[in-house]
Amino acid sequence: MNGSKLRVLFVTSEAYPLVKTGGLGDVSYALPNALRQLGLDARLLLPGYPAVLEQLSLVEVHENINLYPLQEPIRLLVGTMPDGITPVYVVECPELYERDGGPYQDSSGIEWPDNALRFGILSKVAALFGDHNLLFKPQIIHCNDWQTGLVPAFLKFNAKPRAKTVMSIHNMAYQGLFGKEVINLFGIPPESFSIFGLEYYGKVSFLKAGLFYADWITTVSPTYAEDIQIAEYGCGLEGLLTQRNQQLTGIVNGIDTSAWDPNNDAYLSHAYSSKNLPAKSRNTQALRRKLKLPQLKQAPLIGMVTRLTEQKGIDLVLPIIPDIIKTGAQMAILGSGDEDFENRLQELAALYPTKISVTIGYNEELSHQIEAGANIFLMPSKFEPCGLNQMYSMRYGTIPIVRRTGGLADTVIDATPKNIKNKIATGFVFETKNSAELLSCVQRALQSFREKKTWRQLQINGMKRDFSWHTSAKQYVSVYESLLE
Ligand code: ADP
Repeated sequence: MNGSKLRVLFVTSEAYPLVKTGGLGDVSYALPNALRQLGLDARLLLPGYPAVLEQLSLVEVHENINLYPLQEPIRLLVGTMPDGITPVYVVECPELYERDGGPYQDSSGIEWPDNALRFGILSKVAALFGDHNLLFKPQIIHCNDWQTGLVPAFLKFNAKPRAKTVMSIHNMAYQGLFGKEVINLFGIPPESFSIFGLEYYGKVSFLKAGLFYADWITTVSPTYAEDIQIAEYGCGLEGLLTQRNQQLTGIVNGIDTSAWDPNNDAYLSHAYSSKNLPAKSRNTQALRRKLKLPQLKQAPLIGMVTRLTEQKGIDLVLPIIPDIIKTGAQMAILGSGDEDFENRLQELAALYPTKISVTIGYNEELSHQIEAGANIFLMPSKFEPCGLNQMYSMRYGTIPIVRRTGGLADTVIDATPKNIKNKIATGFVFETKNSAELLSCVQRALQSFREKKTWRQLQINGMKRDFSWHTSAKQYVSVYESLLE
């Protein structure tokens, strides 16, 4: 890095704790932070939503930036994240960002009709940084998901020396598709509206623009990087990703190891660590008490904390719940999402009140208590770019059962006899998306649960694993450095 700090601008549509709708918000907070700890000069660029303007103290760094097709000039403000670590640039543009509702949708869940303009303008400002037209001159512009997909396109069409671009995919399922007229809106050369460009079945795909024009592509786990090259997971972009697979890297997300620490977790009644595992069972008792499940000391308690959607494989779990219960296990499920799944779970809870507890809603406290109190954690996702709960589970000595897909495949090591012997097994993994395979995997886990010594070893193996952002951030640094060589 030639002694001077490598300069990275991290462009994102959300960042915890200012504004968050999902995993991208967590990454946008944690990764720049970890990069700064590694000595890089990483800074954020965000839209000036009300929540951002209210929570940061900001000063102006550039006024009167005219950006076609806006009528009014925008202002660029700067502040620091609430923890005082990462500098944040904020695009102040009241007509685009200062409104009630979420970052992508209004309060009734309808997409903002001007999202192409809202995120196109965010991308234009990022490109101004990338062209080295502003005070901060990043060497890398790190773009995230479709909202920032036009940045690599804008920079590609500017011939002069510029920042290199990295495009990160957090979830392929969202692509930012808009009508063809968007091209004219931003003055993108018409020839880019082609299969070799940002066209996607007659529309403009912001994500495809990013994936086509970026200097490098990353996604949030090595297996997801492979998965998205096939039709089952690629959402129509598998061909492009296959073509570009020499410039595609999968890097597993880290977790917030201070918020998720069984030895120091304000939501738990009993702290514990791998050296003090018996204290974990006190959290199991407390959880049963809270959820009004009988204290069946020998019965394994199986936890689930999830969005109740098809992606998470809840439809694989529902048909086998009676079979799981027949084995003597209890279940603690927390989630919200599709109404049909919510109703079916609640019916089962009514049918087996001493065996299953179902809590519908989003509940941070209970999610920690389930991670700590459960013996086993179920995560049979159909696809999973990275996934966090399986990592929380391992850190909490709660053995995950996962499907071999995306980040689950990369983080959980199956308890085969060989892996158990080598003391590397951390969970139970099954292959195929069907309930029968899931059930036999659950039965395999329950068999192990009865072998106390093996179980304890699985817990310790998982609890020793390093899921910190530090490790992931170092891999991003390698990507940046290779682009600047
Ligand atoms: P995804 O982002 O696809 O939902 P992840 O496993 O990457 O899946 O992250 C989900 C995060 O949201 C985890 O931190 C999980 O604990 C949390 N979560 C999901 N549903 C709930 C809920 N009902 N209550 C509390 N936390 C939840």
